[in-house]
Amino acid sequence: MIPHSDFILNAFIIFLPLIFYRPFHKSKNPLFVYVSFLIPLIITMTFPVKLFDSVLDLRAIPLVIGSLYGGIYTTLLLFGSMLAYRQILGGIDLFHYLLSLVPTIVLLLFLFKIYEKASARKRMLLVCGMCFFLRVTVVNLYAMFEGEDTFFISSFVPSLPVIIMQCIMAVMLVFMIEMIRSQNRMQEEIIQAEKMKIVSEIAASVAHEVRNPLTSVRGFIQLLSDPALDERKRREFSAITLEELDRAESIISDYLSLAKPQVERLEPIVLEEALAKASQILSSYANMQNVEIITDIMLPATVYGSKSKFMQAIINIGKNGIEAMPEGGLLTLTYTVNEPNQTVIISIADTGIGMSQEQINRLGAPYYTTKDKGTGLGTMVIFSVFRGMNGKIEVTSKKGAGTTYFITLPLTQQA
Ligand code: ADP
Ligand code: MG
Repeated sequence: MIPHSDFILNAFIIFLPLIFYRPFHKSKNPLFVYVSFLIPLIITMTFPVKLFDSVLDLRAIPLVIGSLYGGIYTTLLLFGSMLAYRQILGGIDLFHYLLSLVPTIVLLLFLFKIYEKASARKRMLLVCGMCFFLRVTVVNLYAMFEGEDTFFISSFVPSLPVIIMQCIMAVMLVFMIEMIRSQNRMQEEIIQAEKMKIVSEIAASVAHEVRNPLTSVRGFIQLLSDPALDERKRREFSAITLEELDRAESIISDYLSLAKPQVERLEPIVLEEALAKASQILSSYANMQNVEIITDIMLPATVYGSKSKFMQAIINIGKNGIEAMPEGGLLTLTYTVNEPNQTVIISIADTGIGMSQEQINRLGAPYYTTKDKGTGLGTMVIFSVFRGMNGKIEVTSKKGAGTTYFITLPLTQQA
């Protein structure tokens, strides 16, 4: 009656997909879901546990949950692999086994749509029901095909506690997956809200910045309307007018590229372009505070990730730097490539008020801010973006002298 240590192994193995959960949530690749549920599937089938005089084989859990989260291709792959592996293990009539699985597969196909829209609680119920249904139909149908008439009373009924145990474990797994999902969703919402805040704060400086070229354009047009103006001057003034208008246009289009909602896509990010763009977007904001931005870039380098999130994080750091220099100063964006480690170190330095060690330690904690209108979510977003890119952040700072953010990211091999 005492659960074997194999039972503990099985229970542990069943929860293995949680480790892979973060990446597969991101990639939404059916193959990824398949692999992360295939591993526990194979292991539970290899080490079934004897419990309550019956066999506790937890294969239903990865089958049902993997199918419901992965969709139709994952389902077919999981069931296909399970049948293949069952055949290798031997001692079974594969055709009868496949037939007894048909009701489950058909039911799963109907459930995808419902499952996608279901709340977490409903998902737990659905998975519990499915695991129960799978086990009940499979063992009884198989026994029927094999002509074992007394199976139901002699073997099935005594195994009920084991089936219930399996259902409970399945519900626990779904509960944890759903918890991670809701945490991820919240994280995404914070990132989005922070982006809107940056967009609205930079808007003020963009409007301000666009007014200058417009004012000078107005002045030149007034000059141009003077009939006494000679041809050389006229040409010179029109050239300046056009230049000023182009400047206003480029400020606006830079701003719009930040404000525009972007589809989230993982792609190679060319660092020199991204940093140049970030400094352009920040330039209006910097001008308003008398801050000069320098981008110092030498070697080409590419990293991999979501471009819009990467830009958001860099702009966030730059914006913090600018805000730390109310009297003006210098913001330097640069990076160095570490060839042997295949990493790149981006550094963003300001000559602002700096931070104490205690302040540095609190960076990244939500709601930590020293500003009147701060949210204290900016650095949290920064940390979560770079962590998502397998990066590392280090901050060095000296009170009154300035702060430097060092971001280490893995390089992408140039194609
Ligand atoms: P917010 O900018 O809304 O205050 P952040 O998470 O971006 O929130 O920053 C949190 C706090 O960290 C800031 O309020 C500030 O005190 C400090 N900080 C961040 N970057 C710098 C910097 N470059 N120089 C000085 N202080 C900084
Ligand atoms: Mg900030």
